[in-house]
Amino acid sequence: MPFIFANFNGTHHDINVFTHEMGHAFQNWESRDLPNIDYLWPTMEAAEIDSMALEFLTYPHMDLMVGEATADRFRRMHLTGALAFLPYGVCVDHFQHEVYANPDASLADRHAMWARLEKIYMPWTDYGDLAYPAKGGRWQAKQHIYGTAFYYIDYTLAQCCALQFWAWSRRDPAAALDAYTKLCGRGGSAPFGELVRSAGLVSPFSDGALAGVVREAAGVLGV
Ligand SMILES: [Zn+2]
Repeated sequence: MPFIFANFNGTHHDINVFTHEMGHAFQNWESRDLPNIDYLWPTMEAAEIDSMALEFLTYPHMDLMVGEATADRFRRMHLTGALAFLPYGVCVDHFQHEVYANPDASLADRHAMWARLEKIYMPWTDYGDLAYPAKGGRWQAKQHIYGTAFYYIDYTLAQCCALQFWAWSRRDPAAALDAYTKLCGRGGSAPFGELVRSAGLVSPFSDGALAGVVREAAGVLGV
């Protein structure tokens, strides 16, 4: 029996937490009858598809959470954040590779590493008069770097798939929800690539995997 233990602080982020963790719980519930205990959860890069996709699939109901007048603003903010997350997530992963390849790097060296990578992946970043992140210290705000090494790329792989559910649900919400529910029901009975393929999604490892999503997002955001 899955349950969610969470704290809420009255900000829009509560909605992301609620829909995201509900996606994990729903997946776990849907795969509860699979024969092996190792099937109950997919590997994490696949499990995060189930959670992140629900953040998008609940878009049509956001008026119930934030009211009709604010729902569009919320969706726009969430979509923008989801797209901007991709270069950030890759930057965190690249940074960790450099940290583990250079175990003797000092704190200043690591700040320099982050500052250099941040310029590659997020050249638009501007910390204004915040001196500490401006010198490369922003990586220290990401607890995964300390606690769960190399987890972050899982989110970016999953986000590439979750965004496809978003684009799909705009064309055919019933089919997208059906594919999502079936994917959740498969739990961890197959590895990432096979789960993605069987759900009708394009693997993030394929060329042009995000082309459809980017086209759709450009139309929605008007960019
Ligand atoms: Zn998650």
